[in-house]
Amino acid sequence: MRAFSEIGGFFLKLWFSAAFGQKQNHHFAKGDNIPIARTGGRGQTSIVIAEFAAKYRFCPQCGEPVDALLERPPFKCAHCGLVLYFNPAVAAAALIFNPEGKILAVKRARNPSQGKLAFPGGFIDADETAEEAVRREVREEVGLELERVEYLCSSPNQYPYQGVTYLVLDFFFLAWTQETGRVAEPGEVQSLFWATPESITPDDLAFPSLRNAWSYYQNVWRPNHPAL
Ligand SMILES: [Zn+2]
Repeated sequence: MRAFSEIGGFFLKLWFSAAFGQKQNHHFAKGDNIPIARTGGRGQTSIVIAEFAAKYRFCPQCGEPVDALLERPPFKCAHCGLVLYFNPAVAAAALIFNPEGKILAVKRARNPSQGKLAFPGGFIDADETAEEAVRREVREEVGLELERVEYLCSSPNQYPYQGVTYLVLDFFFLAWTQETGRVAEPGEVQSLFWATPESITPDDLAFPSLRNAWSYYQNVWRPNHPAL
């Protein structure tokens, strides 16, 4: 168990170093053309994890009180040895194009970032692929069936919900449809509209990960696909 946790901790440290080791900046990683969405430095991530861990006052396995919560994952129970990791939740969203080349933007109906723009999407369920999730979420939110779904990029994010800030990894897809869509989930979507790519500005978008995906689409994907 000890060897496992040390190895796991090492890889987790590597992962956190890779995912959150830099302050927020909107640039592209050299060599791999993958956008980096840093929603905070390592200290910020530790605060998020500490907040999250502070919600849990007792070990979920043996019920012993947890006195000293770690600033970094994994959580390890001193009494029974249970090790719990705080990996990110995963979400999927789509930049959806209609036959005129316009992109579907939705205005968020609730916080965080109520009233700001987003692309349709949501959390990926267990036993669901990211592609299945993005099709389901788009269907649920705006009543659209997607014809083709193509991977674009991924980007770390943070999502505050009911007092807990979740670490999230967002997967972004490009998708195409012939349909116009409608607000099918008023609790999530206030309104929707089809926008020319030129009319969407990063400041309108609700989250850093959306801005990074948008930047990646505009600066990397689009120049490589001039015919689309
Ligand atoms: Zn325990």
